[in-house]
This record gives sequence, C-alpha cells and structure tokens, in this order.
Amino acid sequence: TAIVKLEDVHLSFGNTQVLKGIDLTVNKGDAVSIIGPSGSGKSTLLRCINALAMPQSGRITVAGTRVDTLTKESERIELRKRVGIVFQQYNLFPHLTVLDNIVLAPTRILGADRTATEKLARELLEKVRLSEKADAYPGQLSGGQQQRVAIARALAMKPELVLFDEVTSALDPETVGEVLWVIRDLIRDGMTSILVTHEMRFAEEISDTVVFTENGRVVAHGSPKEIFHDS
Ligand code: ADP
Ligand code: ADP
Repeated sequence: TAIVKLEDVHLSFGNTQVLKGIDLTVNKGDAVSIIGPSGSGKSTLLRCINALAMPQSGRITVAGTRVDTLTKESERIELRKRVGIVFQQYNLFPHLTVLDNIVLAPTRILGADRTATEKLARELLEKVRLSEKADAYPGQLSGGQQQRVAIARALAMKPELVLFDEVTSALDPETVGEVLWVIRDLIRDGMTSILVTHEMRFAEEISDTVVFTENGRVVAHGSPKEIFHDS
C-alpha cells in the first residue's frame, strides 16, 4: 500500500521552476533512492513530503494526509511528527549529551514519558552502534558518529517513514560506511525510507526503487536491476 504519493507536483521559487510535474509512489516498507545532478530538485522533492516545501500545484498524500493543502503551520508540524528527516548537517545540541539529544523531542514535543523514552533512546543507540556514547557530548564524536545520533534522534519520534537528505555528503570518507550500514539495517528492519544520495552502489544494493531526476523531472524510475543493468 502507498504511504507516499506525489501526483503532477509543480514547485517554483520565484520564476525558477524547480519541480516540473513529479509523480512518485512509495509503498509502505520500501526503500526508494533519489539520484540526480545537483540542482535537479531532489532536496526540494524530499522536503515536499514533510511540508518543508509547498508546491504550487499537484497533489501530495503522506500516510493518509493531504500535504499540499496544509495551510496552517500547526498542521505541518503535526505531519512532521510522523515523518522523520535526517539532513546533511546533523545539528545536534552541543550542550546536551547524546542521550539527551535523543530524548528531547519525544518528551518535549510528543509529551512522552521520560523513563520510557530513555529506555527507547538506549535501544536506538544500540541499533546505531553507539551504546558506549550515551553520556558523551556531540563535540567528542566524529562526524559519522554524530550523524548516527541524528538518525537515532529521528527514530525516537517513532516516525512512519524517514527521509534522508544526502546524509553522508558532508562526512569524511572513512566514516561514510558506518552511517550507510546503519541505514541498511533500518531498511532491512522494514522502515519506509526515502533517500537522496550520491552513493550509487549503496542505492543499488538497498533500494526497492531508484528514481533519477533531471531538471525538475523524473527521467527514470524502476528497480535497481532495471535502472542499473538495462539499456
Ligand atoms: P538538488 O537537491 O537536486 O541539488 P534542490 O532541490 O536543492 O536540488 O534545488 C533545486 C533548485 O532550486 C536549485 O536551483 C536551488 O538553487 C533552488 N532552490 C532550492 N531551494 C530554494 C529556495 N528555498 N529558494 C530559492 N531557490 C531554491
Ligand atoms: P543541496 O544541494 O545540498 O540541497 P543547496 O545549496 O541547494 O544544498 O540548499 C541548501 C539550502 O539552501 C536549502 O535549504 C535550500 O532550500 C536553500 N537554497 C538553495 N538555493 C537557494 C536559493 N537560490 N535561494 C534561497 N535558498 C536556497
């Protein structure tokens, strides 16, 4: 069943058309990779899914909610509680420990129980292979470790799907792998995931569907087998 559906989505910034009629369907439990040249609209497409960008026309449905018609910021915030996003910049709070960075949003924004959330946070730290860093501060961690904390923080909200926007692009090459392995584990666990990435081989390995964008359009769309081995 579809958890994300974009139909003929058009988006412009001023006179610049950035999305020129995007159609995209993502089924629950699937991993979809979006690949394309810089400036082709990948990031904007992703941001449309959690209402960080709003299209001028078209229809966007995410987990049963019509997103393109959410006019109130409060409604968009409600949507974002259910759609996790991880950015290139991890943006952890430097004065909070790793554990407190993860616990903050569920307790403050969702009003989740502190003890239960700490337990969940420790489970998530295990999942991202950082159990021993719970009491460390972000500044004491490598970029790859901080990005894995950012992933755990997104998961602590128990999202229905997670968006990854070039999450390894700012990392030192030697820490890229550890972040990709964590994402691969999540996908294998069945987390619905949409990734904007330049990691072709990773996309080929983990994706159910690969989408190529160019100049605001989807120019190819299919299984990794169809995309990487045909024509
Ligand atoms: P990609 O992720 O494929 O690199 P983006 O979606 O980031 O592409 O950007 C597509 C185009 O839209 C680029 O030309 C970019 O400069 C422009 N753009 C993105 N965000 C904004 C914005 N908030 N305001 C104006 N232009 C933007
Ligand atoms: P990336 O290609 O990695 O997505 P960009 O430089 O395109 O990075 O975008 C970084 C941020 O700046 C995004 O929030 C994007 O929306 C915004 N942005 C990009 N281009 C413009 C622009 N021309 N005017 C205003 N904001 C922009």
